Amino acid sequence: MDSPPLIRSYEKAGALLQGHFLLRSGMHTDCYLQSAIFLSNPDLATIAGEAIAGLIQGEKPELVIAPAVGGIVIGQEVARALGCRALFAERTGDSFALRRGFEVGVGERVGVIEDIVTTGGSVKLVLEMIERLGGRPVAVGALIDRSGGRAHFAAPFHSLAALNLNVFTPDRCPLCAEGLPLEKPGSRGLGA
Ligand SMILES: [Zn+2]
Repeated sequence: MDSPPLIRSYEKAGALLQGHFLLRSGMHTDCYLQSAIFLSNPDLATIAGEAIAGLIQGEKPELVIAPAVGGIVIGQEVARALGCRALFAERTGDSFALRRGFEVGVGERVGVIEDIVTTGGSVKLVLEMIERLGGRPVAVGALIDRSGGRAHFAAPFHSLAALNLNVFTPDRCPLCAEGLPLEKPGSRGLGA
């Protein structure tokens, strides 16, 4: 496994978990990135936010929107670095929505910020939501791209690190074969 500095920071923070995990996609993996642990250090969160802001500022975002829950903290830090406001979108069934009085101006340039991009599904839904609301998605930024280069979006995508991790279908998972208990680290839902 290659180890860019950010991945080493995750490791040092205890945010790179080894075991047997169920991903949102239904696939199994032996390695899980728990961004909430990494971001629980505010200094690391600020530094990472500044770095992502540096990658997307050329697209001149006027607003940051993050998918809840995973993107909220890093979205806030990117917005701090850009000097713009930070909103988060919440999953409602098969789509995302802005709640809590959050609004996007018509034609407003929006950067979408996520912690980890695995399949890119949540980001795609947030991009669709922004267009529905009349905003203009101009960039996608993430801490880590673990899609193996498969995540493509309607706006330019930048991440601080790319990491290819072992991913198994349940019927071909060597960890299942060993009888290791499956953990669901979970990153969805704070409730209402
Ligand atoms: Zn398994």
